Amino acid sequence: MDDLPPLRDVIARHGIRAVKGLGQNFLLDLNVTDRIARSAGDLSGVTVVEIGPGPGGLTRSLLAAGARKVVAIERDERCLPALEEIAARYPGRLDIVAGDALKIDYRSLAEGPFRIVANLPYNVATPLLIGWLREEPWPPAYLSLTLMFQREVAERIVAAPGSKAYGRLAVLAGWRAKADILFDLSPRAFSPPPKVVSSVIHVAPRTEPLPCDAAALERVVGAAFGQRRKMLRQSLKSLGGDPAVLLAAADITPTQRAEEIDVAGFVGLANAFSRRGDG
Ligand code: SAM
Repeated sequence: MDDLPPLRDVIARHGIRAVKGLGQNFLLDLNVTDRIARSAGDLSGVTVVEIGPGPGGLTRSLLAAGARKVVAIERDERCLPALEEIAARYPGRLDIVAGDALKIDYRSLAEGPFRIVANLPYNVATPLLIGWLREEPWPPAYLSLTLMFQREVAERIVAAPGSKAYGRLAVLAGWRAKADILFDLSPRAFSPPPKVVSSVIHVAPRTEPLPCDAAALERVVGAAFGQRRKMLRQSLKSLGGDPAVLLAAADITPTQRAEEIDVAGFVGLANAFSRRGDG
């Protein structure tokens, strides 16, 4: 594909022994990383921001797929020399940023629209996803997110009302974006293998989410799912005031539970909460 050495050799030569604390489960099969790169959409002429490139398998696939530029953010300094070798193979197309992805201002990273692609540890990926979904102003600077999650978390992101996995993450994701699970990867695809199955998800931001205040939405969703087995007339008491007033304004039956309310229902509740004046 790119006449660079096999990833196993790169890892051995640079002594990049996988460290658990950094959630390092590397993808060594370039067919797998090619598949992820392809699933990110058309990359030709597009800037890709990659989080956690590690030894650079997915980075190589993104460049080979025609990305105009890849901006790769990696926290583990041991990986930087391996990434420099990729940068030398693709002059001017790979920017390596040594740092913590949780502390980066994404808007200032790339000129023009960009796609975000990452195989990240779950404990970093979930806060990053929430941050990207909360971005203001909306629509955000990124065109799409293509991210690896453990299967169980991916299911919570794409969950529909009425399912066990449906909760705060699904409402936030469903409000601002269309999120889909594209495919699963068995633990064997990684080195070392994680304990669980992983899923690649694609998140496409909605240009016009149903209008409501993000903070108000998070308040009502937090109250509703904070006591998910209770009826809303009970669980929404934690917002103060009389839940019956909010529920009537949003046209929701007070005996329903959080799990039964779709995104539009929560938006209605959030708008009623904002109108009440203390949201
Ligand atoms: N993308 C590579 C691949 O697919 O083989 C590596 C994936 S590995 C699951 C996660 C990578 O994210 C590691 O290289 C790790 O050092 C890096 N990482 C972990 N936490 C990070 C953070 N907060 N900011 C940037 N990179 C991070």
